[in-house]
Amino acid sequence: MLIVLHPDISPAQQAAIEARVRELGFTPHAIEGAGRTAIGITGNKGPIDPGHFRLLPGVAECIPVTAPYKLVSREVKHDDTVVDVAGVPIGGRELVVMAGPCAVESEQQILSAARGVALSGASLLRGGAYKPRTSPYDFQGLKGKGLELLSKARTETGLKVVTEVKDTETLPEVAEAADLLQIGARNMQNFSLLEAVGDLRKPVLLKRGMSSTIKELLMAAEYIVSRGNKQVILCERGIRTFETMTRNTLDLNAVPMLKAHSHLPVVVDPSHGIGIRSAVLPMARAAVAAGADGLIIEVHPDPDRALSDGMQSLDLPLFAQLMREVEAVARAIGRPLYRMPA
Ligand code: PEP
Ligand code: MN
Repeated sequence: MLIVLHPDISPAQQAAIEARVRELGFTPHAIEGAGRTAIGITGNKGPIDPGHFRLLPGVAECIPVTAPYKLVSREVKHDDTVVDVAGVPIGGRELVVMAGPCAVESEQQILSAARGVALSGASLLRGGAYKPRTSPYDFQGLKGKGLELLSKARTETGLKVVTEVKDTETLPEVAEAADLLQIGARNMQNFSLLEAVGDLRKPVLLKRGMSSTIKELLMAAEYIVSRGNKQVILCERGIRTFETMTRNTLDLNAVPMLKAHSHLPVVVDPSHGIGIRSAVLPMARAAVAAGADGLIIEVHPDPDRALSDGMQSLDLPLFAQLMREVEAVARAIGRPLYRMPA
């Protein structure tokens, strides 16, 4: 249920409505919109009788919410959410690009990647320090040292940092180093981790599980938002299908579906989505054309020597070409590329 408030409601009247929600054993969530404020209700098992609220002073109307995900749904919040990642707005009119290696490997590697992607117009630097690898024998990341190197690259280039948090144990340390916390595909339904990032007030990039439906992605986002952290960005990164020629099948259907059903920003990762260097560029263009609010791209100064995901990583000249092309596509649909202030 969504309680829409009168535009001229007093703070005391709003507090009384929220108190009534709590009295009934539910949780109120204030939702600020451009033209109106509303209170979303969670914690109810079935439909709520609107008679509980309809006559309270300051209530304009009571609307039932039919989606199983509530706080992340467009039904509850009509206006797009713009997530502020340390000053970079994601989910507004401008297209935001995040780029960097799959994993931080060395100081020289991350600094040269950071300088290169900044020069081409990226706003965020990506790079895993704690890597959840499919094989225990594969490179697991530089861990704490990797986080230090990301911070160094941020100081030198001004890029904001997105890096993956693999578990609740390392969350405090990763949250300290990151401007945007990435939850990987393998952890999309790690509910303890979702709850733990939900208790922080730091933006989260939530990647779609490789065998998860769009609805399951939205329910995972609901775990985070229902704990009070409203700064969630959804990420389509490809799903498993019967196709074997590509690493995954980039489900660009998800972009208009997520935008229709949720107010949260949507970012696309064509690198993991297709897994083939030469094919990342066309799929990045397609993602922007489909309405993505941002892209996350794997870029390595020497992709053939990368310790992870080299086959899908672009070198710096190819990334520069990608930026020129996606900027042109974005412009064609009325969306400028966001650029860091000089
Ligand atoms: C990554 O971004 O390097 C990564 C591991 O992605 P995903 O969780 O989508 O597989
Ligand atoms: Mn990767």
